[in-house]
Amino acid sequence: MALWVALSIGAPPVGFARADALDAVAAAGRFDTIVIDAGHGGRDEGARGRDGLIEKTVVLDVAHRLRDRLVGFGYRVVLTREADDRVSLRDRVASANEARGDLFVSVHANSAPQNWVRGVETFFLSLEASDDAARALAQSENEAFEEAGVEPQADSSALLGILGDLMMSEHMVESNEFARMAQQTLALRDSVRSRGVKQAPFHVLMGVHMPACLVEIGFLSNTRDERELGSAARRAEIAEALAVSIVRFGERYDARRGLEARPPVAAQGG
Ligand SMILES: [Zn+2]
Repeated sequence: MALWVALSIGAPPVGFARADALDAVAAAGRFDTIVIDAGHGGRDEGARGRDGLIEKTVVLDVAHRLRDRLVGFGYRVVLTREADDRVSLRDRVASANEARGDLFVSVHANSAPQNWVRGVETFFLSLEASDDAARALAQSENEAFEEAGVEPQADSSALLGILGDLMMSEHMVESNEFARMAQQTLALRDSVRSRGVKQAPFHVLMGVHMPACLVEIGFLSNTRDERELGSAARRAEIAEALAVSIVRFGERYDARRGLEARPPVAAQGG
């Protein structure tokens, strides 16, 4: 259970998860801290397009653009990786929890065996994947940590059993809501194919004590998506759509908790 040990660094024992989550809500105050998780990095390149575009590079660029937009709105932003580095699952989860993030957004790009498959899809956590493709994707993203040598081999099924209680978290409702807002905003442009909101057991979403989603911003295995993701304008558009969704989500999240619904005014880095 090496992976559980790893996750427990950033997470309390499962029996305490709910009380801890409630404490965190009480202490957290207004929605103001966003954790952006750029997938892969270093030796783990993620997906690669036929024209050579690499997932780790594309998603880091989107993460930087998103950070800049959110800092401009006055949010505190934490990146789980700043550069082309390998960062373990444990460290990603730990930095999110230590920052007491209000929202965790993991950014990835997709790949499929069929090169005609294209579009944007947003995931939130579930033990059961929405369909075979979602299951295969989560497996591939989870294995990337192990294959890059940053994570010990772990028994995923045992891990899922132990973490099952965490699935009852109230964050599931919030995660679902943010996923829908993000997907809708990302797909506003006519040329973007929306593949909808799905669920799958992504390990990186399991240990974080906050609403959490994973966005797949396009398929590098598709020529058209690869060309678009290669354009700075498209990457800026994706970052803008995510930033707008985050602001809207934060306003609703705060209003529901009886907090004054506006973004913080003082810009803070992080
Ligand atoms: Zn990925």
